[in-house]
Amino acid sequence: MVKIIDKEFIPYITAQEISNRIAEMGIEISETYRNEKPLLVSVLNGSFIFTADLIRRIDTPVEVTFIRVASYEALKTTGKVREILGLKENVFGRDILILEDIVDTGTTLEHLLEAFRDLGTKSIKVATLLHKPDAQEKADKPHFIGFEIPNKFVVGYGLDYQGMGRELDEIYQLR
Ligand code: 5GP
Repeated sequence: MVKIIDKEFIPYITAQEISNRIAEMGIEISETYRNEKPLLVSVLNGSFIFTADLIRRIDTPVEVTFIRVASYEALKTTGKVREILGLKENVFGRDILILEDIVDTGTTLEHLLEAFRDLGTKSIKVATLLHKPDAQEKADKPHFIGFEIPNKFVVGYGLDYQGMGRELDEIYQLR
């Protein structure tokens, strides 16, 4: 058990299980892109450890870049606006693989897919370490999924609780 700020978390996915699954994902992704040179777009902050481990399990040439998704309440419309920050590469006509730490409601993912489609990409796929199928409200399902997990809050391995817990080697679940 670990305590982060005011919450208790219990061990959920071990470092070994994560490592084994990422090795399998690396093989799947390498086979999918064997004759392409995809641009891997890692969504900060949560995906930085997953990205670092996954790309070293890919054995075909890839390019890697990092973006952020800014999310804020719009003044005149309902709901949140999400904006992509930091994309420097020209993605027109390219094969894109988005790397996410977790897909929860799928709202962020839906926005990313729409934004990249608008930029004229050749193909867009998504690899996520974690997926909460019971929480997902949007239609787009990630193509490569590390673990399907229940609809409970998790931390560790890049994922935070109020900015803390990213350095944990394993994934913990809210008690
Ligand atoms: P979505 O747009 O799919 O609802 O949510 C995506 C974002 O919510 C993720 O990129 C992540 O930042 C955050 N998130 C969703 N579920 C969890 C969780 O269980 N733990 C943590 N640390 N972040 C989460």
